[in-house]
Amino acid sequence: MNSKQLLSGNEAIARGAWEAGIHVACGYPGTPSTEIIENLARYDDIDVEWSTNEKVAFDVAYGASLAGARSLVSMKHVGVNVALDSLMVTPFSGVHGGFVVITADDPGMHSSQNEQDNRFFAKFAKIPMLEPSDSQEAKEFVKIAFDISEQFDVPVFLRTTTRTSHSKSVVEFSEAKRTPPQKYKHDPQKYVVPIWGKRRRQNIEMRLKKMEEFAETFPENKIEWNSKKIGVITSGICYQYAKEVFPDASFLKLGMIFPLPKKMLEWFCDGVEKIYVVEELEPFLEEQLRLLGVKNPFGSLNLSGKDVFTNMFELSPDIVQHAFSGNGEKKSFDNEIAIPPRPPVMCPGCPHSGVYFVLHKLKTVVTGDIGCYTLGALPPFNALDTTLCMGAGIGNAFGMEKVHRATMGKKLVAVIGDSTFLHSGIAPLIDIVFNKGITTVVLMDNSTTGMTGHQQHPGMGKTVRLENTYAINYEQLISAIGVKHIRVVDPYDLEATETAMKEALALNEPAVVISRRACVLLEEEKAKTHYPYEVLGELCEECDLCLKIGCPAIDGSQAVPFISKERCIGCDLCAKLCNFDAIRMIEN
Ligand code: SF4
Ligand code: SF4
Repeated sequence: MNSKQLLSGNEAIARGAWEAGIHVACGYPGTPSTEIIENLARYDDIDVEWSTNEKVAFDVAYGASLAGARSLVSMKHVGVNVALDSLMVTPFSGVHGGFVVITADDPGMHSSQNEQDNRFFAKFAKIPMLEPSDSQEAKEFVKIAFDISEQFDVPVFLRTTTRTSHSKSVVEFSEAKRTPPQKYKHDPQKYVVPIWGKRRRQNIEMRLKKMEEFAETFPENKIEWNSKKIGVITSGICYQYAKEVFPDASFLKLGMIFPLPKKMLEWFCDGVEKIYVVEELEPFLEEQLRLLGVKNPFGSLNLSGKDVFTNMFELSPDIVQHAFSGNGEKKSFDNEIAIPPRPPVMCPGCPHSGVYFVLHKLKTVVTGDIGCYTLGALPPFNALDTTLCMGAGIGNAFGMEKVHRATMGKKLVAVIGDSTFLHSGIAPLIDIVFNKGITTVVLMDNSTTGMTGHQQHPGMGKTVRLENTYAINYEQLISAIGVKHIRVVDPYDLEATETAMKEALALNEPAVVISRRACVLLEEEKAKTHYPYEVLGELCEECDLCLKIGCPAIDGSQAVPFISKERCIGCDLCAKLCNFDAIRMIEN
């Protein structure tokens, strides 16, 4: 293997974790973090898993740390919300083997339902946070994070953003330091927190003081002295943007963004005339700087930051340039280039199309969840009323039922994908049964985690390394929860799907309709022979009903719809809708 390679930040993190000699890595797929676990799975000497959700991933990886092994857990920013219950206790209990928590934040919401600045979690939990600015640093910072974790007996955050996760730069490899896990230590006074937690509370403050001292000489907090007119304080990908805009300025580049090195900040600010704080999202560094009471040579802090930047979306060199050019206008990355609007669409033959066609036809109120089926909110289906976060849809539907049971009870449907159901959909379904709800749930089982790129989950019978394993039987699981009415339908069979939905909605009890058909983008599905369809112009009555299935293989811009032979996968859904037999399979 070459000693240098072009790697994305995520690939580099995986390499760094391997070089650091980790034994266990867990995660739940979520853009922009997904490739970390996928790349770790390529190392045979690491135990790697996709877990059912981020809290489970956190608990398993932390358990490995308690057993004496270096371990890592990886998630996107909202995943930290799911794992937070466990995370907030670990500063009390500390670690045994080094323990690193990766949060991949998504400024600009490229693939997320919200934008949140997870730097605040480091301050909230009082645990250190490192932030790399390129792939080489991503690799090195993981190793440093493990050392800090073991040195201070604390979990360590490694924060990336979409740009560092997915951008590629050259990475120089080192040898791996593989050592066996440390011996397990029976230490209930450290790990049984509720009983001895009060005693451990003061450890957190003492440790924080020591980490603040450590931050002063931490080599990845670097000062680059140049012109003293402008001093830029920054971290992560913003360092790259600012460096491009102010090549002659002095820089304080923070590798560790919590806790901050107060003396170093004072020394830096004292040496420059004007401070620019360049950071994405919230004024995290700026606020801490002000709280520390840092001053310039003139006595007060001559600082510019969020007064010229918006606290929304991503920055770019252009935005940094524009912000400090003094015209006062706050810009965001999103407005840079005018791209023609291209609404996201479902794939040709997507099994979810059949379900949404039926739900739209039945005029149901649909609470959705996180997955590619969120596209059901767009025309022609307009089928989704809500989509909040992982697992929320089923609980949201039950809440609506509680308020408008008489009028909405027979119209309410919660839709959820198979991976999301296993992540956090089971508990709210139990709640419906337990509290005598009547909401109908559609489990859209397409046999994969579709949205993030087909990661394995416990319903698929395959592990992250594609080894065979037990596959959850949804019918048995849902039956064990207490749902009596369970129907399985093929969403390509529109008639059967409609019948099953009507039947479920008519009941005065909870019902689950499992819509089962594999995602058309799975390799085994793509490998099947597909016969495309065509529209016979002489039979077409131009009623446009076939467009209602929302298939991007059908072009409806002309009076007679046209089916692209290259895109059509022959699912037959459009042909089923045509009342004039004007759509037929092309036989050869
Ligand atoms: S449903 Fe049939 S008749 Fe109507 S536009 Fe499509 S092909 Fe033509
Ligand atoms: S058969 Fe019709 S609905 Fe199915 S992929 Fe082809 S064009 Fe789309």
